[in-house]
Amino acid sequence: MRYELMDASSIASAVTRGEVSAVEAVSASLDRIGRLEPRLNALITVMEERALERAAYVDGQVASGCDPGPLAGVPVVVKDNMCTRGVRTTCGSRILGDWKPPYDAAVVELFEKAGAVIVGKSNMDEFAMGSSTEHSYFGPASNPRDISRVPGGSSGGSAASAAAGYVPIALGSDTGGSIRQPAAFCGVHGLKPTYGMVSRWGLVAFASSLDQIGPFGRSVGDIALAMDVISSHDPRDSTCSRRERPSFRDGASSPAVKGMRIGIVREFLEGPLDPSLKRSIEGTASVLVSSGCAIVEVSLEESASFGLPCYYIIAPAEASSNLARFDGVRYGFREEAPDLVSQFTRTRSSGFGEEVKRRILTGTFVLSSGYYDAYYLTALKVRKRICEEFDRAFRSVDVILMPVAPSLPFRKGDLLDDPISMYMSDVFTLPVNLAGLPGMTVFTGLEPSGLPTSVQLVAPRWQDRRLIECAAVIEERFGCPPVAEGGAL
Ligand code: GLN
Repeated sequence: MRYELMDASSIASAVTRGEVSAVEAVSASLDRIGRLEPRLNALITVMEERALERAAYVDGQVASGCDPGPLAGVPVVVKDNMCTRGVRTTCGSRILGDWKPPYDAAVVELFEKAGAVIVGKSNMDEFAMGSSTEHSYFGPASNPRDISRVPGGSSGGSAASAAAGYVPIALGSDTGGSIRQPAAFCGVHGLKPTYGMVSRWGLVAFASSLDQIGPFGRSVGDIALAMDVISSHDPRDSTCSRRERPSFRDGASSPAVKGMRIGIVREFLEGPLDPSLKRSIEGTASVLVSSGCAIVEVSLEESASFGLPCYYIIAPAEASSNLARFDGVRYGFREEAPDLVSQFTRTRSSGFGEEVKRRILTGTFVLSSGYYDAYYLTALKVRKRICEEFDRAFRSVDVILMPVAPSLPFRKGDLLDDPISMYMSDVFTLPVNLAGLPGMTVFTGLEPSGLPTSVQLVAPRWQDRRLIECAAVIEERFGCPPVAEGGAL
């Protein structure tokens, strides 16, 4: 059987019924990784030994009649900024190149408790700063739909792993678009949950008021399944809410979208946008209308104009503070020097890459005395206005339908020397993080070129289930994302 083509729930039920062993399913995943990884570089670490041990453990549970969990024997990949005990967690950086955490991230614990088997840690832009996975100390990853193109970023390796059929489910983190944009570029679904929905315990922080963990998958059912497993309260992350979580799987299997009001954002369709992506929005709107939804035009003028500059003050400010801990004393890489200050300087100068240093410098500048009010404080006020603008829009609509990124996946190297154009890749996704809202990339098909198209759905805080429901209806019409195979690879 070709496990790489199966979704997570089919693998889990076959394993639970004893029709296939977890070791077989995981070995198939490891084989595929071995075959394709030289071309994709989607993983920084392949966890072969731990994966096979874990799979054998799941098989033991099945043999002894214990419930192995809803993800029994399902191979998964997690982004390399999520801690795995005893397995290096690099954040795509030289400075953490050989750092082995002493504990597992909450999502890793939850996945393993549910029977999932982690087969690898995915490639990413250094410390999740970037939109192409080209800013990785471990080399760029490729897009499995066309290996001359980037997979998006920063969770490019996770998106590529799901699209290439390494695994049915992968985890990424999203601070300004890092799940949704690579999902769009690689042609899979990807969900950034409401801020506070999923525990970030053990996620190496980039910008703490924006970071959220979420799943990639090739079916809405798998995204829902992953969400049911990872979304729960965790006292170890003080921002993780106590609210009761809905059943996402129920939302996927019986979507109730009839009567929903869907907002189309005028400003986002007027700006630069690839014509195929504009057509996707229109096609999706008519699918939703034929399922009983109404289309309403909304305006998000401030988000469209000020989202990007606001994000590029707040995120670097928080990053400059979060990354201060990497000084070569307690973690990872160290460059020796005759005195402590030059040890810090040398370690940080050669341990961090260019983009990370650009963010640390920007962040330190906007927080420095004399500039704090003009930049940081102003950005906080703008952020408040962006939140209020979304709240206003959600008085007249239930879900907003908009693009994920302005373009189809670009070629490797095209934007590397042009940071501002790279930042523009996230112009539609950043405001959603600033407002703490849930956002989802839903696959809408492949162009004749083989490149994928998609749309972004956004809901009010804690209404993530609505996204799953709309996505299920869209998937029924456009089909599940296929595994990238053959010519493209
Ligand atoms: N591309 C954006 C950035 O570089 C967002 C990254 C992210 O969501 N982690 O900051």
